[in-house]
Amino acid sequence: MRKSLLKDIVNTFISLPKGLWVTAKNWSFLRPSVTQLYPEEKPTLPERYRGMPTLPVDPQLGRTPCIACGACARMCPEHIITVVPEKGTDPKDRRPAEFTIDISRCMWCGLCMEVCPKKCLKPARTFELACYDRQGMIYRLEDLMRLGGTLEPEAEESESSGDE
Ligand code: SF4
Ligand code: SF4
Repeated sequence: MRKSLLKDIVNTFISLPKGLWVTAKNWSFLRPSVTQLYPEEKPTLPERYRGMPTLPVDPQLGRTPCIACGACARMCPEHIITVVPEKGTDPKDRRPAEFTIDISRCMWCGLCMEVCPKKCLKPARTFELACYDRQGMIYRLEDLMRLGGTLEPEAEESESSGDE
């Protein structure tokens, strides 16, 4: 009984410096920190980061080239996209009167972007979408265009080739 108690005491004195040695090794300047002080420090997103779907603005049109065909809404497995075409416009100049996405249920699958014939739905390069209200997760046409920024030239080319 006494022998085992003595052994426990010796083990305690050995394990303490052992544990401190592990801490000291990881605290050294040789091992750079892998944590970030978010939100002060923003993470660098990978080049191919795919965020929520947005509608970038075509600088020549001054709006999204979306033709309100509804293919994205039909394809979305969550049924969270609503597209209402503008009434009374030239069929060759179709555009959305309303376009909403309820991002609270989006699973970032990208199917809506893949199916778009105009290639005008693009993933946003942002992940900071938290809010206190479910209504705040419903993005309307103007929100989607603002988040989308400007449509890139290569996207414009592929869009015009698939237009006819
Ligand atoms: S990314 Fe997927 S879930 Fe989200 S809106 Fe597009 S199709 Fe729907
Ligand atoms: S699939 Fe593309 S063009 Fe058709 S409604 Fe959706 S965003 Fe607009």
